[in-house]
Amino acid sequence: MPHRTEVAHTPWAEVAESIEFVPDEYSHRTLPEFSAQEMLACSQEDIELLVDAGLPCERRPEGRFFDTNDLYNLGMYSGKTRTQPELAFRMLFRFAGRPVDGLLRPKSWNFRVALECPECPEAAPWHFEGPDVARFGGDVAGVTVPEASQGSAEYAATVTVTGARTPLQSAELRNTVRDYLDAGYRWQMIPVAMQFDYELVHSLGATSCIAASLFLAERFRAAGYQANVRRGWFCGVLGGALDLPHACVEVTDDDGRVKTVDIAKAQLAARLAKNTGEFQELCIGSIYNKVILSTASGDAPLSYHGCGSQSPVQVRADVQPAR
Ligand SMILES: [Zn+2]
Repeated sequence: MPHRTEVAHTPWAEVAESIEFVPDEYSHRTLPEFSAQEMLACSQEDIELLVDAGLPCERRPEGRFFDTNDLYNLGMYSGKTRTQPELAFRMLFRFAGRPVDGLLRPKSWNFRVALECPECPEAAPWHFEGPDVARFGGDVAGVTVPEASQGSAEYAATVTVTGARTPLQSAELRNTVRDYLDAGYRWQMIPVAMQFDYELVHSLGATSCIAASLFLAERFRAAGYQANVRRGWFCGVLGGALDLPHACVEVTDDDGRVKTVDIAKAQLAARLAKNTGEFQELCIGSIYNKVILSTASGDAPLSYHGCGSQSPVQVRADVQPAR
């Protein structure tokens, strides 16, 4: 056998077969082909192979366009190690392999959210579901609320969050979590509107943060526990380069305390980094300082604009460590 240093890569057609592509009704095919090539660090021929293998695209006179989520999932599960999604997620989850003490201390974040109302007809007030951190020992300071305007607005604040080790106690709740993890749903980037249809997502064998939390909260309630889903933000996501929707379940445990279960982050950490057992355990009941929860419940929008437009407001967060 000749000496080979190159790793045997999964062919793109096989990667495509392993992905649940976003169905037409939830898909936004707006990413041009050259950006798709950049994201996957691949050639035009590779894109050809992917389209032949089922990658949905929209053909316009100026070329083919793709859904960003589909490209993310192809990259994440390509095993090629140098696609943008693999590099981004690996960077993002490096912390999960370190000792968790650093995640339990108070930490301040420069929290900025850009609100955009597409096809906005007129100036109107904004509603934004802001950070809700005081219940868990956090604090919000220097708040700039969005003023009435047309088209776009911004919310900014310095948000301090802290961590605490409060693991889930109830054996029944822990078993429900374990069953979910053992079921082997595959984490994918999924549009928020599709995640609200959590039964559809799970019927495809897939999962994502909001869908997982809605699914698990339903199971907790079926077991007689009080449980709700909260949306929020995962901090330090590469200058907002990766729009990773965050959600977790809030459940009242046998000790009467409200615990947060961040099941999808436990799954992602297990997949993306080594030695993440301690972090995964933290996701099951405890809180940590890289998450900012909002006042929005799991299936509610983070913002709306009073202009009467039917298009949902786009919410883009950039959460960076404060000096
Ligand atoms: Zn508007």
